[in-house]
Amino acid sequence: MSDGRPIRGRRRAYRELGEAPRRILLLMAAKTYRAKAFMTAARRLGVDVVVGSDEPGPLSRRTNGAQIGLDLGRPARSATKIVQIAEERPFDAIVNVDDATTVVAAQAATRLGLVSNSVDAARITRDKYLARRALQRAGLLHPRFRRITVDADPKVEARRAPFPCVLKPVAQSASRGVIRANDPTEFQAAFQRIAAMLAADGKGQRKIVVEAFIPGPEVALEGLLDRGTLRVLALFDKPDPLDGPFFEETIYVTPSRHSEAVQSQIVETVERAAAAFGLRHGPIHAELRLSPDGPVILEVAARSIGGLCSNALRFGVDMSLEELILRHAADLEIPTYDREQAASGAMMLPIPRGGVLRRVLGREEALAVRLVEGAEITIPIGQPVVPLPEGDRYLGFVFARGRTPEEVEAALREAHRRLTFQIVAPGEEDDEAPCVVATPRSILLPLAAPGVPVRRSRARRAASAS
Ligand code: ADP
Repeated sequence: MSDGRPIRGRRRAYRELGEAPRRILLLMAAKTYRAKAFMTAARRLGVDVVVGSDEPGPLSRRTNGAQIGLDLGRPARSATKIVQIAEERPFDAIVNVDDATTVVAAQAATRLGLVSNSVDAARITRDKYLARRALQRAGLLHPRFRRITVDADPKVEARRAPFPCVLKPVAQSASRGVIRANDPTEFQAAFQRIAAMLAADGKGQRKIVVEAFIPGPEVALEGLLDRGTLRVLALFDKPDPLDGPFFEETIYVTPSRHSEAVQSQIVETVERAAAAFGLRHGPIHAELRLSPDGPVILEVAARSIGGLCSNALRFGVDMSLEELILRHAADLEIPTYDREQAASGAMMLPIPRGGVLRRVLGREEALAVRLVEGAEITIPIGQPVVPLPEGDRYLGFVFARGRTPEEVEAALREAHRRLTFQIVAPGEEDDEAPCVVATPRSILLPLAAPGVPVRRSRARRAASAS
């Protein structure tokens, strides 16, 4: 691993821009989906990129060796290593790519005096309990919530839970370990499942947030903070209901079909939440539920959209989200912040059953659907596929572009219908395994009543939040 030799060919591209080269540290997890998009953008811009990551593995090919090896489980130590390298050759900016690198990015940038989010703000975004507390203090809508640990007695905790409720580990991503429970029996099952998952992870995570289920459709906002001012880059609708018991993401479509008034409320809520967390600079990705009382924040992450979903975003003529983010970080000219005119969408393919992926059928047929621009399967044949709530990999992505969000959504659904997967469950013979459509796994916990209303922040509720 080196401290960052330049990537061949970048300088020339940079000269074409007529700007002084900038040196950017991109922090990303080794298992990130985002490396290719960021490295393509960096090459195109001609910036000097060094990648900080937890394993040399697959990333070092893309970076041509310009990589810093970090222990992401030890943010302070990793930040020190970054600071030492920067002392020899400074970085102009640090860009955070993944949840796993958020805190390291803020620590290193703060110590180097770069414009960045504070370490406290980064920590809040990575802790679902601290995040709820910050929203509560700021007077934003939030569900009733409590924090418990894996050592708690689930029977006792179930008596205090606001049903229907959601249980989730404080620091996971991509809906991993997020489970809805409608009654005490489901609560205990969910609790035990999360506790077993955290124990199997072996990372010492022990805390779980229990909060009221927030009813209503979900949206995601992609934004860029510039020294505290939010620019909205895209607002995605999620047209499939996400009612649990697990919360596998499927379709994202932009522009939003919600009314102007609702969209303004969403933006205002995200601005207030970002301020409540103390976020100031760089990309953010926010998820919200539109409850009957108004938008409720699920999370605001200090990074851009995950998976391969950024393929759905294009700015101006052909600027990618990653190019926009790198231009912003490097203080280069940003020709536009406006997304293209077209409607666009991505579908994350849910994992229909656990096992080993043997065959993918119908990819050509899916690609033949009008408006569909891509279909990528991201789990290699022969590799295990693990559904939520334990899984942490996407099966694949489908992309479509069109005139309206309606036709984009219809194209994604049609492509999805044409794709089938043969996944061999443990103990099953290859030829016994059915070919299945990538719909979320059959519901394991029975579903019941609709959601309870969310409440406004009141100091007395702080007492109930341990
Ligand atoms: P992660 O950071 O792992 O994605 P989130 O807290 O954002 O975890 O939750 C993931 C998904 O679970 C959300 O997008 C949403 O669909 C669902 N979810 C989480 N909390 C709630 C809640 N209180 N009410 C309703 N749905 C929820």
